[in-house]
Amino acid sequence: MLENIKIVLVNTSHTGNIGSTARAMKTMGLSQLVLVDPVSPPDGKSSALAAGAGDVLANAKIVSTVAEAVADCGLVVGTSARSRTLSWPMLEPRECGEKLVSEVPKYPVALVFGRENNGLSNEELQQCHFHVCIPANPEYSSLNLAAAVQTLCYEIRMAHLSETRHETTVQEEYPLADDLEGFYSHLEQTLHKTNFIIPQHPGMVMTKLRRLFNRARPETQELNILRGILASIEKSSKDNT
Ligand code: SAH
Repeated sequence: MLENIKIVLVNTSHTGNIGSTARAMKTMGLSQLVLVDPVSPPDGKSSALAAGAGDVLANAKIVSTVAEAVADCGLVVGTSARSRTLSWPMLEPRECGEKLVSEVPKYPVALVFGRENNGLSNEELQQCHFHVCIPANPEYSSLNLAAAVQTLCYEIRMAHLSETRHETTVQEEYPLADDLEGFYSHLEQTLHKTNFIIPQHPGMVMTKLRRLFNRARPETQELNILRGILASIEKSSKDNT
């Protein structure tokens, strides 16, 4: 799924940043890098900084405009180090990760990054549905390009992991209140039969046992085991009489 999330770098001037971006992407499970009109194409410096992410770098597509890079995308999010005069629908980095991950099953989506010296132009920002800003130190909020890519890709990964976790965790099944009551009366009967509870002095035993079992919140299967234990006690005391 993450392969349909495009990371778009616009007019990048440092080839090293292209390599570091590839590495940032691969560590988070992303693979689709699109370079819009890079000042120079990827070179040896890019490969050195890409390290083990040479494949992402080698597969990078080069296009000439943002429009071309995002033409097939149903959701486009632009990044900006500061809020501009232009007010636009904003996303927090966490929401941005969640939104990209939730929409990517339907169509490719893109996250667009600007130039090292002056970010994205207003025209480019207006091609985006949303803008995202990493809420950094207001006195110095401009991250290195690849560091910004890393931060936002991390949020994408967190959103992706939480989706897959929800899909794979088996929800515990808990018994209904009525079943728990059935267990408590069965337990009480058994404890009477074994003379653990004496009718003249019932004391607080059942209250304390209820508190213990309610705190543990037995699952349906566990409650069945407990009922089975009670049944086995009954059976063996019958056999002995
Ligand atoms: N001087 C530029 C900063 C460019 S930093 C400006 O003020 O726009 C290069 C790119 O890194 C930005 O275009 C953006 O894509 C990304 N970036 C850097 N800091 C960011 C932040 N705090 N939030 C979101 N993106 C950021």
